[in-house]
Amino acid sequence: MRIGILALQGAFAEHSAMLSSLGVRPCLVRTPQGLAGLDGLIMPGGESTSMRRLAGHSGLLEPLREFGMSRPVWGVCAGLILLAARVEGEEPFTGLMDMTVARNAYGRQRDSFVAELQVSGLPGGFFAGVFIRAPRVVEAGPGVEVLAHSGGAPAALRQGRLLATAFHPELTKDDRMHRYFLNLCGSREALPESL
Ligand code: GLN
Repeated sequence: MRIGILALQGAFAEHSAMLSSLGVRPCLVRTPQGLAGLDGLIMPGGESTSMRRLAGHSGLLEPLREFGMSRPVWGVCAGLILLAARVEGEEPFTGLMDMTVARNAYGRQRDSFVAELQVSGLPGGFFAGVFIRAPRVVEAGPGVEVLAHSGGAPAALRQGRLLATAFHPELTKDDRMHRYFLNLCGSREALPESL
């Protein structure tokens, strides 16, 4: 399996390490050509304004949107913002996932927190959700399954082959969310033929 990680800015090295520890060779994506042949893509956390600017300069916006229309994509924190169809106060980026997000709605950097999350579909009890200047999902469309809540807002969501988490699993030692995504990437329902 070939899994890409958008590596323009942010926490791509941590995802890379997590995938390597699971025996999957990560492919760092910085150009449209980097998306070729991938079975799935992680858009990491970081700073979404910088990422969208860099992605624009690299000609990645359209290729990312197209990739997400037929292949699994997991957006983490800033990556979740890049997936959202609606972003309060700004234009959406890929617009792939039917949800509305408010950036930085949990407060400032020092208001970062860890919450115990019950994530549906994950075996083995609570997941420690690390929230760092996280976006808050204020509305999710009917085709979006909410896998976990935190403080009354969706914190993990899935829309078919698209996965989004407002928290950062790559900053923990818990690889269950990464395993979940790898399952999605390997499953037949994620493939374009069955859309
Ligand atoms: N605050 C960042 C943004 O709005 C997201 C933070 C993160 O990815 N940890 O882009």
